Amino acid sequence: MADQAEAPAGERPLVGDQGSAGSRTTVSAGASAADTDLTRLIASRIRDIPDYPQPGVVFKDITPLLADGEAFNSVINALATLHGPVDKVAGIEARGFILAAPVASRLGAGFIPIRKKGKLPGATYAQDYQLEYGIATIEVLTDAFDPADRVLVIDDVLATGGTARATADLVHRAGAEVAGIAVLLELSFLNGRAKLADLPVSALLTI
Ligand code: AMP
Repeated sequence: MADQAEAPAGERPLVGDQGSAGSRTTVSAGASAADTDLTRLIASRIRDIPDYPQPGVVFKDITPLLADGEAFNSVINALATLHGPVDKVAGIEARGFILAAPVASRLGAGFIPIRKKGKLPGATYAQDYQLEYGIATIEVLTDAFDPADRVLVIDDVLATGGTARATADLVHRAGAEVAGIAVLLELSFLNGRAKLADLPVSALLTI
């Protein structure tokens, strides 16, 4: 993955379903028929990579989904409907960019990159957050948002919630409002929502 190549080992907040490597992804109950079709489609296009990038981690590889034009389009449409009208869509580097930019375009909203430390030109707000081993930092440009912008935050996977929490804090510090956090896949056993209790959080597929 590109973002793995960009970051030194240990700097990514990768966490996985340790102990269930190879287990099948399940579809959450209670969804409508159309949602169930979508969740099944997503589940069938996400590949488990055991022990990547380190032993004990089950990496959720979304590249098969991205490579399927119909599935990719359905996911973008679904993400775009989750949190109402927004002014900006913030994508979290790197896989969040792939989903957030087309969602922003679909909504007629602006796209704002949330980047790893040192990548953005100009003045930034920086936010530290906890990884399994150590601390990481993400940044946003100080002039990224207009006052009171409603912002949709998008990433591929919600795991422990540290990345999404740090992003929401950056949006607030930059003077905007978080309309919601939307992810493709939530690893519910890692309880990321506990860190996001004050915010609307949506996942297209929860396992
Ligand atoms: P967290 O901060 O723990 O919620 O981790 C979320 C971030 O780490 C997202 O940007 C994901 O891309 C990445 N991530 C965490 N765990 C995994 C995993 N098991 N598979 C793929 N990406 C992951």
